[in-house]
Amino acid sequence: MKIGLDLGSTAIKAVFVDGEELIWRGLAPTAPGQGAIAARLIEEGRQALNLSSVAGVRLASTGYGRNLFQAAEVIVDEISANARGLFHLSGGRARTVINIGGQDVKVLILDEKGRVTDFRMNDKCAAGTGRFFELAARILDTPLESFGELASRAQEEVELNSTCVVFAESEIVSLLSRGIARESVIKALNASVARRVAGLLGRDLGGPVWLDGGPAQNLGLVEALENELMAEVRVLEAAQYTVAYGAALSAASR
Ligand code: ADP
Repeated sequence: MKIGLDLGSTAIKAVFVDGEELIWRGLAPTAPGQGAIAARLIEEGRQALNLSSVAGVRLASTGYGRNLFQAAEVIVDEISANARGLFHLSGGRARTVINIGGQDVKVLILDEKGRVTDFRMNDKCAAGTGRFFELAARILDTPLESFGELASRAQEEVELNSTCVVFAESEIVSLLSRGIARESVIKALNASVARRVAGLLGRDLGGPVWLDGGPAQNLGLVEALENELMAEVRVLEAAQYTVAYGAALSAASR
């Protein structure tokens, strides 16, 4: 048994892994006192799995706040953890990985052994990240969990042109006040994020793209990204936990 912790900019994720099997996962929003939040998640996992104690269980932490969990014996950078976790869960098939997080977007190019051969990141602009979706969800008063389904019911073709979150916010408000349906605004949002994310990737992808991070759970975004890249986009069921899973694998191998 080992534990992987991903202290991300927006969500703290914990996984318990038995052998190579992900047997428990949980998350909590990132807030001050990240170490204590992580400890609570681990305790939740311990109880759910009926373990008498986690003393002696190997634990690795990663992510933006990876140094904030004092009890971690292994600390890994999130690029390595992401590559390792996703490559493993993809059965060694992933070569191009896009991770959309709360505050950044990363592109990882892997070789046939899962080693990172190229890496790109956009952390300068929030318009292509999870934070943008959260902001839009608030303006639209609609849970993010329903963005995929709602986008599939869009009737009108509208576009969001703003290249900055601040302007996009007023653009959304103005579309709504023109009577454009929420479904169509959400579809436009997915397309606008997909455009921005695709801008980080070159052409000639040579195979499917594996998308992970929280926003990968939005099927509308996945579809928009497929249209933008003209390539297949694959999403694993545990898309938000691939980085924590990768950390757990590192915990075991030291
Ligand atoms: P980080 O590691 O940077 O904290 P995550 O990979 O955990 O980021 O992703 C967080 C983002 O995931 C949130 O900002 C939100 O936009 C998005 N998200 C979380 N859950 C869902 C969901 N069910 N559907 C769509 N998007 C989601």
